[in-house]
Amino acid sequence: MKYNVPTPKRQVAMVLDLNKCLGCHTCSVACKKLWNSDDGTDYTYWNNVETMPGKGYPAQWPQTGGRTATGEVKQGELPNLDNAYGRAWTFNNKAVLATDQASKKKEWLRPQESPTWGPNWDEDHGAGQYPQENHYFYLPRLCNHCEKPACLDACPRQSIYKREEDGIVLVDQDKCHGYRFCVEACPYKKVYFDHQRQVAAKCIFCMPRVEEGTAPACARQCPGRLRFVGYRDDKDGPIHKLVDKYKVALPLHPEYGIGPNVFYVPPMSPPKLDDQGRPLDEMRISMSYLENMFGKAVHGAMDTLLAERDKRRQEQPSELMDLLIAYDWNESFKLDGKTREVI
Ligand code: SF4
Ligand code: SF4
Ligand code: SF4
Repeated sequence: MKYNVPTPKRQVAMVLDLNKCLGCHTCSVACKKLWNSDDGTDYTYWNNVETMPGKGYPAQWPQTGGRTATGEVKQGELPNLDNAYGRAWTFNNKAVLATDQASKKKEWLRPQESPTWGPNWDEDHGAGQYPQENHYFYLPRLCNHCEKPACLDACPRQSIYKREEDGIVLVDQDKCHGYRFCVEACPYKKVYFDHQRQVAAKCIFCMPRVEEGTAPACARQCPGRLRFVGYRDDKDGPIHKLVDKYKVALPLHPEYGIGPNVFYVPPMSPPKLDDQGRPLDEMRISMSYLENMFGKAVHGAMDTLLAERDKRRQEQPSELMDLLIAYDWNESFKLDGKTREVI
């Protein structure tokens, strides 16, 4: 099926600067606590943070779904609950609490099962030979509130819609019959299935907060100050500057053809070392790896980032570096010109 939904009047969007993510998972916890604590979705994270290079969550998510070159929705596959998502663990809390603290044989907190996979299973593993070229970076992910959402077109009941006022993509769970075609079709695997309520569930871009001019919880709580939120058409806002003016914020896997509205500033990385420990003229995270994630535009983006960083090192002004450093968090969130102190 081809995309057939009018363009929204405005589009809210997010930029994440991957040079600043600490991998602290505050964003995931903020989202989970606020919106998504149902038993049927205990295994899901509307926001999650992956270590790259790595398998991601669900494992190997970039392999199925999206659109063909002519715009048709590809069917994709359902990720497996055991091997791709990993079920939520239960812990031996009772045994730990019952342990006699004076005893020499202490009971340590551990999962009751013997899991072989789960979110962040390969956290901080990364790639490359130590110490010459080892590297990793964090990739926080949420629904992209796409221009042409594959999830929307895949739903035979028209349960998924894109809001006219801000382009947020939502599931009408009253209409949803739990077919999971949306889960299959989303190439980012950012729709989940609530096994208890038998409906689809996904990031709502903190719609009630956005309506009040408050940034989404995952962005507002981020201690790394790497998230920027605003409307695509706000020429004075951070999104326009990073995406359109400086062109340093890029969609993840643009080749999927569904127009994400979450963008990433690609990670700069330290140089590789030779056998004597001397720096080489090559970054640890290869440009071919980044091109695979962000497309060819990553080369221009990286050139701009390195040039602006050099300017700043030479104590020359750089609007781009000032913006990315985010001295004042209020400047990172521009929702209808309003900023709010609400956490
Ligand atoms: Fe739908 Fe979000 Fe997936 Fe885009 S990223 S196809 S809007 S669930
Ligand atoms: Fe969760 Fe809101 Fe962030 Fe979406 S925008 S991932 S709902 S905190
Ligand atoms: Fe990264 Fe911010 Fe999430 Fe921490 S809260 S993992 S710094 S995006």
